[in-house]
Amino acid sequence: MAVQSPTYQQRKAAADRARYGTLAAAPLTTKQIHDQQRPNSTQRGYGYRWQKARLVHLAEHPLCATHLERGETVAATVVDHIVPHKGDPELFWDPENHQSLCKPCHDAKTATEDGGFGRAGGRGGESLQVAGPRPYLSSRFFERNNQGGVLKDG
Ligand SMILES: [Zn+2]
Repeated sequence: MAVQSPTYQQRKAAADRARYGTLAAAPLTTKQIHDQQRPNSTQRGYGYRWQKARLVHLAEHPLCATHLERGETVAATVVDHIVPHKGDPELFWDPENHQSLCKPCHDAKTATEDGGFGRAGGRGGESLQVAGPRPYLSSRFFERNNQGGVLKDG
C-alpha cells in the first residue's frame, strides 16, 4: 500500500497549525524586536536585572579595583565576580562578590580562570605575568589559591 493515512502526530500538527497559525504570524511588538536585536547578555543568563545591578555597582565603585590596589586611578567598565560564580546564583548576585574592573584587568583575570592555571592542572603562573595586572603578587600566591579558582578572600 503506497498511501498511508496520517498518523496521530501528523493530524495533531495540522490541527495545531490551523489553531496557532495566526498567532505565530502576529507582528512582533517593539520590545520583542528590540530584544531580538540585542540577545547577548540576556541569552547568557544575565538579563535586565544584571544590567541594573551592574550600573548601580559601577556608579558606587567607578574605579578599577585592581588598579586601585596599586594606587592607580583607572575608570572601571566591567563588574566582575571576585569568585567565579560558575552559574551559582548566590555567588552571582552577592554584592560582596562584585568588583569593578577596567576591561584589560577583567580580561586578564578571565584568562586565568578560563584557560590559564585554574583548570590546566599545571602551574601557568607565566600567563599572569604576561597579563600583568598584579605584578607584585608572587606566583606562589596564585599557587596557594589555585584550589577551586578562588583568587581572593571574601
Ligand atoms: Zn584595571
